[in-house]
Amino acid sequence: MSRFRMYPTSEQEEQMLLHCSHARYVWNLAVEQHSHWHRGRKSAPGFAEQARQLTEARRESEWLRSGNQTVQVQALQDFAKAKAARFTSGFGEPTWRKKFRHEGFRVIGDDRVPEFNPDGTAKVNVKTGKQVMARAVVVQKINRRWAQVKVPGCGWVRFRNTRPGLPDAKTFRVTFKNGQWHAAFAIIPDPIAAPGTGEIIGIDRGVKITAALSDGRTLNCPQLTVKERAQVRKHQRRAARAPKASAQKAAEYAKVAKLKAREADRRKDWCEKTSTMLARTYDLVRFEKLNIKNMTRSAKRTVQDPGTRVAQKSGLNRAILAQGWGLLRRRTEHKAPGRVEDVPAPYTSLRCSACGWIDKNSRKSQAEFVCSFCGFTCNADTNAATNVAVGQAVRPRKTPSGTGGATPRQRSSVREPQHPTGVGIPRL
Ligand SMILES: [Zn+2]
Repeated sequence: MSRFRMYPTSEQEEQMLLHCSHARYVWNLAVEQHSHWHRGRKSAPGFAEQARQLTEARRESEWLRSGNQTVQVQALQDFAKAKAARFTSGFGEPTWRKKFRHEGFRVIGDDRVPEFNPDGTAKVNVKTGKQVMARAVVVQKINRRWAQVKVPGCGWVRFRNTRPGLPDAKTFRVTFKNGQWHAAFAIIPDPIAAPGTGEIIGIDRGVKITAALSDGRTLNCPQLTVKERAQVRKHQRRAARAPKASAQKAAEYAKVAKLKAREADRRKDWCEKTSTMLARTYDLVRFEKLNIKNMTRSAKRTVQDPGTRVAQKSGLNRAILAQGWGLLRRRTEHKAPGRVEDVPAPYTSLRCSACGWIDKNSRKSQAEFVCSFCGFTCNADTNAATNVAVGQAVRPRKTPSGTGGATPRQRSSVREPQHPTGVGIPRL
């Protein structure tokens, strides 16, 4: 996907906001139709039926009719695709789109270009014997930095072209978030080729250090500066003290949202750059397997049975989510498909990467690792990353009974060794 910031004029912006509301309205109607379905009922209407219903609805509703039909049909098409991919996309069932939060619409290209088969021959319709024509988005270059794209009802809309060449896509999606317009062209980039050095890197993700690499490097995801965080608190405080539903309250919350959006942008940028670096430099990238969803579960339980240290846990959750662990893993996989592995995490932070001894006493502090068996000293995160780089082999295997026992070589020494000699000490 190639994404560019758009700079519409105020008239264009008005028209595009209208497109957004039409697309959202049509999408939500589709969601509603499908949510009515349950076992035994006639199946919910598919794309073709919905498109027919849309034509009818346009005849009756003045408001819908005033909008662009292609934009509305594309919303249905998007819904059909999302519905079809609900088990594989990772997003699950398509859900409601909210005003201000999910603003956007898809535009299908006006231009027709001949389509080709993967082997380079012209694609021909089997029945008619005619050349198959595909859609293409019309993009024009204005100068070195600027280009423009056609949006229905708006004419040419300028965008900042931050890549060499012009995007070549069949469709693009326009989004509006945090006061910014973006155009995302539907392009699947070629995966990054492996460097072929055979180098393997292990990555340990943490809260203090976002990503510790097994070669000793530590990478940190940028966050808000101390000053910016103070600003967030200031505006939150002012918002809390402003009268209910006042313009002042809204303005203060808008300022908070702007700062938070800046943080998210920084995180995303860092993840993109880091994942590209990983995909370019290493043949195989190993991440420790994390279940972020479970890790960031709230400590809050029920009113009758409240959990303890709820605020601390929510703070930790926030810190975990601020690291962009999931995004980094996901984007690396996109860029280096088949070259990313998940290594089960148990004991990677307690195991000595030099001799294999596992002991919780080896971890002296958050940052320091001193092996209680061989005396190997290392940064704790680098030590864990080295264990991750070694891969599956170091994992203490559970006994078939599943009682958590381990093979003698990788005995879980989180427990004290039962006998003075032999047990738990690796054969060197
Ligand atoms: Zn050791």
